[in-house]
Amino acid sequence: MSLRTYRAKRDFGKTREPEGKAPDTARKSAQFRFVIQKHAASHLHYDFRLEIGGVLKSWAVPKGLPTVKGDKRLAMAVEDHPVEYGGFEGTIPAGNYGAGTVMLWDEGIAEAVEADPAAALREGRLLLQLHGRKIKGHWALIRMRPANDENKIPWLLIKTEENMRPLSARAEDRSVKSGRTLKQIAASAGASWTSTRSSGSVQTRRSTHRGRPARARQSR
Ligand code: MN
Repeated sequence: MSLRTYRAKRDFGKTREPEGKAPDTARKSAQFRFVIQKHAASHLHYDFRLEIGGVLKSWAVPKGLPTVKGDKRLAMAVEDHPVEYGGFEGTIPAGNYGAGTVMLWDEGIAEAVEADPAAALREGRLLLQLHGRKIKGHWALIRMRPANDENKIPWLLIKTEENMRPLSARAEDRSVKSGRTLKQIAASAGASWTSTRSSGSVQTRRSTHRGRPARARQSR
């Protein structure tokens, strides 16, 4: 559980993504936060993140979570992200890693069947019940081959127990944090905010950006 790879891929002078504090690796719980970010990068995908071991364990899921019992979706393990990333919604500037628009698509509490979720992940098998604002129900997260490299390992997200009722088009398209669509988030490029800022401060921030000289905006 380290943020080394996460930090190496990013220039925090250029992207407003959080740099992250040192992970609290001692924390162990079978109940933890999860977030799903919808990310319009070179390819649209969903980033599924579980707060385990003081970081956000992360998977890029091209098609999103399956909703029909027995269905499987590919979930590519990617580098650990800082827990602060779970509040990130905004744009990553062109030319930077993951360039594109990030929406906080869903968030909530995950319960693992296993008492030690970090150990379960190392073993490549985690059974989850997700209590999100949109996503609710049971899934299994299964590694497809043993880890020899922490990054780019294919996992499967499998729907278990029950079908999940399909989401409305509105729920699919809108941020759970701001109610905005990807298009609306992209349109306010330059404005981004993290979990430490309430939505009430967004307007202030956007006004500040609007008031800046164009050249300063472009250099971000
Ligand atoms: Mn992503």
